[in-house]
Amino acid sequence: MRLIIMGPPGAGKGTQAQILVEKYSIPQLSTGDILRAAIEAKTPMGLQAKEIMARGDLVPDEVVCGIVSERLDGDDAKGGFVLDGFPRTIAQAEELDAMMTEKGIALDAVISLEVDADALVARIKKRAAESGGSRADDNEEVLRNRLDVYGELTEPLIAYYAKQGNVKHIDGMASIEDVTASIAQELNK
Ligand code: AMP
Repeated sequence: MRLIIMGPPGAGKGTQAQILVEKYSIPQLSTGDILRAAIEAKTPMGLQAKEIMARGDLVPDEVVCGIVSERLDGDDAKGGFVLDGFPRTIAQAEELDAMMTEKGIALDAVISLEVDADALVARIKKRAAESGGSRADDNEEVLRNRLDVYGELTEPLIAYYAKQGNVKHIDGMASIEDVTASIAQELNK
């Protein structure tokens, strides 16, 4: 199964991606997690990404496309994967299409988690409180910027993938179990 899971920050992408990982025995390719690990390890990529991520802006397309290209070649991704947090711009989506064509693979589905903006602010505040502030980008001002960036640059991807005919619209406001069930139902169609 080759999947993309999309949705605004706080929509539950990471949670549902984890469930898909278990269910299909595929790796979760999270550009956010890879970038946070790079920051932790103080690699040149991490140093470049740190300030950008703390503001809630996007890391340059070529940096994240490089990460994904490398991860798609990993042995664990041969049987499928769930991309979480990538692509986030049309340019990234076009690059992903080109990478997949070159590798002779195709997406099975793009899962779009649809949620209400006010509920997101509440969810992210809760995550910030629970994580004890371990994510520098989990505060309200940065969240609002991340939501703006999402609306401006990432949301247009839903129409991009709708043209390819593989978007699964999922109500992300339901409980975790119900969202999981809706995704399963859509993927089994
Ligand atoms: P996430 O964990 O997916 O919410 O990502 C956290 C942050 O990492 C984002 O706010 C961006 O700064 C950066 N990031 C993650 N994925 C991408 C991407 N595909 N393109 C650009 N920046 C990204």
